[in-house]
Amino acid sequence: MVMLTDAASEPAGSARTLEEIIADQERAFCERQPRSAALTERAARSIPGGASSNWAVSRPAIVWVDRGDGSKVWDADGREYVDFHAGYGVMVVGHNHPAVTEAVQRRIAKGSHFAQPTEDAIVVAENLAARFGLPKWRFSNSGTEATMDAVHLIRAITGRDLVVKIEGSYHGHHDALMVSTFNSAKQIGPIERPIAVAGNGGIPQAMVDLCIVVPFNDLAAAERAFADNEGRVAGMIVEPMMMNASMIPPQPGYLEGLRALTRRHDALLVFDEVKTGLSIAAGGAVERFGVRPDIVCLAKALGGGLPCGAIGGTDDVMSAIVSGVYDQVGTFNANPLTMAAARATLTEVLTSDAYERVERLSTAMLDESLAIVKGAGLAAFGRSMGAKGCLVFNDAPLHNYREFLHVDPALSHAHWLFQHNGGVFLPPWGKSEQWTMSVQHTPADTQHYIDNVATFATAVAQAADLRENRYTGTY
Ligand code: PMP
Repeated sequence: MVMLTDAASEPAGSARTLEEIIADQERAFCERQPRSAALTERAARSIPGGASSNWAVSRPAIVWVDRGDGSKVWDADGREYVDFHAGYGVMVVGHNHPAVTEAVQRRIAKGSHFAQPTEDAIVVAENLAARFGLPKWRFSNSGTEATMDAVHLIRAITGRDLVVKIEGSYHGHHDALMVSTFNSAKQIGPIERPIAVAGNGGIPQAMVDLCIVVPFNDLAAAERAFADNEGRVAGMIVEPMMMNASMIPPQPGYLEGLRALTRRHDALLVFDEVKTGLSIAAGGAVERFGVRPDIVCLAKALGGGLPCGAIGGTDDVMSAIVSGVYDQVGTFNANPLTMAAARATLTEVLTSDAYERVERLSTAMLDESLAIVKGAGLAAFGRSMGAKGCLVFNDAPLHNYREFLHVDPALSHAHWLFQHNGGVFLPPWGKSEQWTMSVQHTPADTQHYIDNVATFATAVAQAADLRENRYTGTY
């Protein structure tokens, strides 16, 4: 997995092990942020674990944020970071973008909630229809709600209960799809017959049993899943590019194959574009890969920083909402502030040119980083598409979750720590995540990332256990 050349110069005997390097970086990380530590301690008395999402509670310590502006954020200790975390991929607009800030300020002065529609929602729906080629849109508040609505819809329309999903794909934390998400190799059985397993506590086995799990990029497995359950499958939900396992693009023909397969079985195809939509292209994966499903789920970047989810669908599918076959509801759906922010985001900020610009910047950052990492003798590959990109410390590109499980988490974590301590904020859970390049990032920001990659690569390439082949790949 890790191949070292003679590039590492320090005598092996005096070098630290990868584990020691990580320990040093984690110590430095904690020493940098005494106020965050104090806030966590106080918070933990009233907020379990100190934060309101377990994903904000990452090793070695929670980072409390004070503010963001442009491409930067400042933590509670006043330290500045180039922000590629972007709130888990939400802030493609960057922080405090004048168009979004002004739209929200204008709207809040006129009232922030009525639970009745406001005009901005029409503009947002029309814009999404043009981008994704699906004519009808409904709004909610999160990716979880979007995929939950999608599953309800396909079950209500077809009168069938089974859903085919991809092993290792996360679609939000509701019961229907919290199945075979981040589970370990021990739990999920052989790849020819993956076992569906609950992805969290509190998920009834009865719900797990309604999911048929198949590996990504394996059309034959999906065909078997439909054939073995003829007439019982409502549809298939797929992230058109897996985005919670670094970035795993679809193999040529795979999405087209799923499109034809679902049609053949009178089932519906759902793209979960919570991460890809409005980040890899103006029209997300639908535009990028040229396949149109029956339903697209959006969230994250759509609200420009306000909580927003959406489902888009064909006239046929969405007529089920009009007729009451499925009541799509929610007090905060299409909240006026959210719609004002989404309107500004779509019509003023995330234009087609914006995607070309961020992709150029992102690809250049990836190319230079990869050259440095490989030059230091570390095995790596990378991906860059639209606003999204990642460095993966593995010798071969990945095709599915099983291969992703073999990626060494220690190198990814070490890289994340070096970036953070060097003033670049990346999403935690290093090997799963990507960077998000906002429209406000500059070449100086990407140079900062590249410089940190160089520091990381030099340090890690000298790790004694890597150099002497004693490294066990665990941490
Ligand atoms: N789908 C995908 C592909 C996601 O990555 C996520 C969140 N990371 C969700 C759905 C759920 O979105 P939310 O956290 O807004 O509920």
